[in-house]
Amino acid sequence: MDNIIDGKAIAAAIREEIAQDVEALKTKCVTPGLAVVLVGEDPASRVYVTMKEKACTQAGIFSDEHKLPAETSESELLALIDRLNQDQRIDGILVQLPLPDHINENKILEAISPTKDVDGFHPYNVGRLVTGTPLFQPCTPFGVMKMLEHTGVDLTGKEVVVVGRSNIVGKPVALMCLAQHATVTICHSRTRNLAEQVGRADVVIAAVGRPEMIKGEWIKEGAVVIDVGVNRVGEKKLVGDVEYQAALQRASAITPVPGGVGPMTISMLLYNTLLSAKRRAAL
Ligand code: NDP
Repeated sequence: MDNIIDGKAIAAAIREEIAQDVEALKTKCVTPGLAVVLVGEDPASRVYVTMKEKACTQAGIFSDEHKLPAETSESELLALIDRLNQDQRIDGILVQLPLPDHINENKILEAISPTKDVDGFHPYNVGRLVTGTPLFQPCTPFGVMKMLEHTGVDLTGKEVVVVGRSNIVGKPVALMCLAQHATVTICHSRTRNLAEQVGRADVVIAAVGRPEMIKGEWIKEGAVVIDVGVNRVGEKKLVGDVEYQAALQRASAITPVPGGVGPMTISMLLYNTLLSAKRRAAL
């Protein structure tokens, strides 16, 4: 169907452009560098970190891996971040979440220099996003915006309904849509009559984490649907937050799960790392 937004293809095109820009930067003796820090043995985190390292290598970005044991203390981790903040080879620092319980996540994220905070989670960068002067935009919501751009969606004056208000997806994506002149509604678990809210939307962005909770019949005819949700159903199947098959019949454009927003996140991480290296090169 030609209304399916192919996240894999868009993500691959972005990575191709990044690889070319990295090559060009290397001719000026600047190699972008990303430090990836993993604490502990969480299997999902290990998979994500391996994917990020592989993506860096493919794009020509220097990947500096730090795989630390689960018993690493908060002060040891802070000392590593301090070293990475000073390290001239490193343009971006990513600490894979979640961290073990004995480490204060906020304290760690706030220790990362805002100029190397390629995840965009530091309060300084959150503030920059709120004021419409972003330094780094968080990768998943940034990926959503790139997908809308590639699909040719102009948000000016559009009704955007975001379902979910997390700090990593819902809130930042709402701010990004606002910056592009949409009229934005943010829904959450206490929202009354979600079906009615979703039914008004020209663009629905779902970031809830509940399998197919947004029903296809709620979607306005011709709306654009971006499904950030990734939910495991049974042993192997992944589904989004939107009832995909039914929504596909009504949407003018819709992202599948898998193969929609998912592949965009790492591309935007590489994008932010390159952006940081370009800023360094301009110094
Ligand atoms: P969170 O659990 O942090 O937030 C979920 C949000 O959904 C909350 O704001 C919650 O409301 C809201 N919510 C829960 N139940 C309902 C309901 N019945 N009606 C309306 N709103 C509801 O999740 P994240 O934002 O971290 O992630 C959301 C989804 O996106 C997950 O499936 C996650 O796996 C996926 N994801 C995918 C990524 C990728 O593709 N690269 C990256 C990040 C996330 P309240 O605040 O009131 O509790």
